[in-house]
Amino acid sequence: MSDLETIRRNLDAVRECIARAAERAGRRAEDILLIGVSKTVLVERVRLGVEAGLVALGENRVQEAKEKIKVLGRPVPWHLIGHLQTNKVRDALELFDVIHSLDRVELAQEIERRAGTRGRVVETLLEVNVADEPSKSGFVPDAVEAALGTIGGLTHVRVRGLMAIPPIVERAEDSRRWFETLRRLAERHGLKDLSMGMSADFEVAIEEGATMVRVGTAIFGARPARTATRPPARKVDT
Ligand SMILES: *Cc1c(COP(=O)(O)O)cnc(C)c1O
Repeated sequence: MSDLETIRRNLDAVRECIARAAERAGRRAEDILLIGVSKTVLVERVRLGVEAGLVALGENRVQEAKEKIKVLGRPVPWHLIGHLQTNKVRDALELFDVIHSLDRVELAQEIERRAGTRGRVVETLLEVNVADEPSKSGFVPDAVEAALGTIGGLTHVRVRGLMAIPPIVERAEDSRRWFETLRRLAERHGLKDLSMGMSADFEVAIEEGATMVRVGTAIFGARPARTATRPPARKVDT
């Protein structure tokens, strides 16, 4: 099977699962945006994803997106789904249509400043650290109200909804409570969009109200592991 056929087949399978999950929840599949997460995927393969029908792409890193966009352009909107450093906001605004990872007030203020000079309103989602994990960025649920209050005063940042990367769990079903937490928070604040659900659990996320699912592996195949941050410990003879 060619790479295009493989990706097309994967995409069809994901779409089918989206349709069934939507139906179970009494929702319309058209109300759910499938974002193809292309991090670490070679640019030629990403192009095939678009050819196969992806209507949105997601990247974690500004630099990686920049290289891909240089080659592919923007046949579809690009979504930033990874942590954004303040000093990369300027580049990010050139590259991305939506920022899912608005995880601190200072970042919103920097986006406001940069977007203001361009006369642009930037679409964002507030990232929520739903389980209050120390390793993750984002606002803890109790901090969301105050954050929305402050960011609500900015004129070039529009918060469309909430995003979360819940704790790693063994079974998709175990993510449900976190998706539900995010949905309730969004409801409480009158926010429409919910970016939640990845390859392993997007169906549960849709049952709980996801309007955007971020799916990489199930479309493009398994990713190579990121290069190790530390060399393996050397065995010392004693
Ligand atoms: C990598 C990544 C995804 C996609 O993960 P898969 O398990 O490959 O579908 C979704 N969201 C974020 C924030 C990611 O970093």
